[in-house]
Amino acid sequence: ETFQSLQLSRPILRALGQLGYVKPSAIQSSAIPIALLGKDIVAGAVTGSGKTAAYMIPIIERLLYKPSKISAIRVIVLTPTRELAIQVHDVGKKIGRFVNNLNFGLAVGGLNLRQQEQQLKSRPDIVIATPGRLIDHIRNSPSFSIDTLEIMVIDEADRMLDEGFQAELTEILSLVPKQKRQTLLFSATMNTKIQDLIQLSLDRPVRIMI
Ligand code: AMP
Repeated sequence: ETFQSLQLSRPILRALGQLGYVKPSAIQSSAIPIALLGKDIVAGAVTGSGKTAAYMIPIIERLLYKPSKISAIRVIVLTPTRELAIQVHDVGKKIGRFVNNLNFGLAVGGLNLRQQEQQLKSRPDIVIATPGRLIDHIRNSPSFSIDTLEIMVIDEADRMLDEGFQAELTEILSLVPKQKRQTLLFSATMNTKIQDLIQLSLDRPVRIMI
């Protein structure tokens, strides 16, 4: 199988070619077609499996299906650490480099809050965030509107809970739109806490275990 057979649009195929991605990894083959349909997904996937592209590719593709006329935050990717957020931001920008008018933003701790606020004022389509800093922005920046959210990714959910972000996650989930939202959850391990999170935040998810 190749990425061509996954029916992706040309700007994405071109970027994947430039990145040297020829064959989809196992998680990518399974997750991309399901995510493209707009379904919720729970995926058991470790770092190194290609999980970042497994959600980034269909997310960008779905944004392309339905271009937004206004600048709006349409996707939030939640990660447990700023290092992972920066990596995901980097991968996303590479996969989306040939897509017109696609903007990425970072909302992570450790970077200057005011500067970040200024950057997020332009309402990037895809915001990569850590939970604590995302809540800061939601609470304190009047221009940071997440009412337009269409897709939420919870990456490394197990690590997120290990880092003690359960309360933040619950708060974020209570603030983002529920109706018509697509949610994709990735976790290396599954336990009852993750099952509770799935129960709370996903709608009839397709389970993918690689
Ligand atoms: P991840 O599991 O998302 O951290 O990705 C692990 C590594 O695999 C990264 O360095 C990616 O650039 C690379 N990668 C992801 N998907 C593919 C693919 N289909 N073909 C080749 N390399 C890939």
